[in-house]
Amino acid sequence: MSQRTVTILGSTGSIGVSTLSLFEESGADVRIVALTAGRNVERLIEQALQWRPDLAVIEDVSKLPQLRDRLAGTGIKTEGGAQAVIAAAHEPAEWVMSAIVGAAGLAPTLAAARRGAVVALANKESLVCAGPQLLEMARLAGGAVIPVDSEHSAIFQVLQQPCIDKVSRLILTASGGPFRVWTVEAMRAATPEQAVAHPNWSMGAKISVDSATMMNKGLEMIEASYLFATEEARIDVLVHPQSIIHSMVEYMDGSTLAQLGPPDMRSPIACAFAWPDRLAWPSPQLDLAAIGQLTFEAPDLVRFPALSIARQALSVGGWAPAAMNAANEVAVAAFLDRRIGFLDIAATVRDTLDRLNGGGDLKAGAGGDVLEAAMMTDASARRLAAAIVDDLSTVH
Ligand code: NAD
Ligand code: MG
Repeated sequence: MSQRTVTILGSTGSIGVSTLSLFEESGADVRIVALTAGRNVERLIEQALQWRPDLAVIEDVSKLPQLRDRLAGTGIKTEGGAQAVIAAAHEPAEWVMSAIVGAAGLAPTLAAARRGAVVALANKESLVCAGPQLLEMARLAGGAVIPVDSEHSAIFQVLQQPCIDKVSRLILTASGGPFRVWTVEAMRAATPEQAVAHPNWSMGAKISVDSATMMNKGLEMIEASYLFATEEARIDVLVHPQSIIHSMVEYMDGSTLAQLGPPDMRSPIACAFAWPDRLAWPSPQLDLAAIGQLTFEAPDLVRFPALSIARQALSVGGWAPAAMNAANEVAVAAFLDRRIGFLDIAATVRDTLDRLNGGGDLKAGAGGDVLEAAMMTDASARRLAAAIVDDLSTVH
């Protein structure tokens, strides 16, 4: 493969670090156009000194002087603020890793898609907020959106394009998270430390809490529905605690195709980087004899109500998934701040959606600017969720 220009949005996070680690381990011939981070300026400086991008951007402008100071004399341009992150996505890199967490990733991801880049999409929230519009934008610009989320990467790899109309079901596997076998009473008292201690994957705090509530799988159902044009009724969730089968596609002839691998995000990142080729790198090997058993169980919809909430938002459609995502971001942040309890997360999301649906403004069509419409929904859901969190935190 010839040299490729690359930008990493969210380079200091779990996925960003895995992406750079993959480049290092594989010796891939890349030239980094831009690295962007939210607040972790120390790690951004380290990465910039090692990888020598054209541009390093920190979203938190209060950290820009430090970035400027430490990169002075290197020839690396430095910028700060949310607009600068979007501008970085506009810079002409062929391949863009979208790995910012949350709806904050939407504007830069849209910017990369709009100019026809190959977008490796880890930031599932941007698909949940404006999936159909994002995919259409990439299509019109002649670019591509390649999923990085391990489940969607799995489906992407086993989905046989010529017979896409013969798919009967997409089966998303889920580890079940750290509370898979906990009682409701134990979950009620769960701490942020317990919630972020994922059994199989090492990830950022927000997605780790999402895995504990299983809202992660809810977001992923929506992601899968948009990416693979599949309605909600044909997407199933299957708990598979070993996280070896990353997802499956069932065809109408009774054949089910699965993709397997050790739980290491560098593998789906490698797939998104080299597709349709394969990247050779010293990847961890799958040792099924050592693992011994792969087990499966149905998800418990009573202890994990987020799954039903997400199904409901997906079937309402319109901006309901964006509202759900925003409420979830507010609730997860409040839980991590110890302002609400673990079970209050899903309750806050449900309550926010109920109140918004009552207002009947979630079905509004796509007209107008996508980003503006998505962000308006996001803002009103955030306001409602914040008020609900305030009420809950006084009793917590
Ligand atoms: P993380 O919290 O470790 O990293 C997030 C990155 O985004 C960091 O670089 C951070 O500095 C940056 N950032 C945060 N807020 C920002 C803002 N407002 N503006 C600009 N940059 C900001 O998260 P992560 O675990 O790497 O996850 C990133 C995305 O990938 C999420 O959408 C997550 O759902 C998805 N994802 C992650 C994994 C995983 O294994 N970590 C797996 C599948 C999907
Ligand atoms: Mg996933």
